[in-house]
Amino acid sequence: VLSVAQDFDFFYFVVQWPGAYCDSRHSCCYPKTGKPAADFGIHGLWPNYKTGGWPQNCNPDSTFDELRVSDLMSNLQREWPTLSCPSNDGVHFWTHEWEKHGTCAESELDQHDYFEAGLKLKQKANLLHALTNAGIKPDDKFYEIKDIERAIKEAIGFAPGIECNKDSSHNSQLYQIYLCVDTSASNFINCPVMPHGRCDSRVQFPKF
Ligand code: 5GP
Ligand code: 5GP
Repeated sequence: VLSVAQDFDFFYFVVQWPGAYCDSRHSCCYPKTGKPAADFGIHGLWPNYKTGGWPQNCNPDSTFDELRVSDLMSNLQREWPTLSCPSNDGVHFWTHEWEKHGTCAESELDQHDYFEAGLKLKQKANLLHALTNAGIKPDDKFYEIKDIERAIKEAIGFAPGIECNKDSSHNSQLYQIYLCVDTSASNFINCPVMPHGRCDSRVQFPKF
């Protein structure tokens, strides 16, 4: 019997800094529920292979169903807010993340547990706290990438991947943080492979 479930080796848990999403070329729109908190927001939980590639869009028959996450809705709005335009309620973003990435982890997590796992990882990582504790704040100042990496490694126990983008003045800035997670989506692990970072050695941490 063939299984539709595809195997994968680990997850990237990816969070985005809203200040860096919003002041880049594409700009942003606040969700219908209002301006998100000045905190990292969840981007996604992405199945990956340890060789560097990843599966995507694994099951066209598995569509996002709001009713399955109704108990998580207010947490999703707060912790997994969309910043894309036009302003919307987030269902587009969650649909995209489920269909592209979540469907490739269906052997491990159903739809409810996939989104709940993302929310739990966000809480467990507490990344803004890890950074501010080390004096790294979203104050438009520049910080050494090495210091950002060290602060997170000291707080969580595992080195993160850092992705940067550019603001309208072409400054390299902190955009996304990647943490590696085991296939049960509950424990941070050492990354088998790091994502492409595109960061200068010093990067801006923009206000939001
Ligand atoms: P970008 O080109 O902005 O780095 O990534 C665009 C999209 O490709 C992401 O939103 C994500 O869906 C997918 N993607 C990029 N890098 C990875 C990766 O390392 N693993 C997985 N699973 N998806 C990725
Ligand atoms: P990815 O393919 O990288 O997993 O997700 C990116 C897709 O999600 C894009 O098509 C983008 O338009 C949509 N999207 C909706 N809201 C957001 C958001 O707040 N941040 C990012 N990075 N993408 C978003």
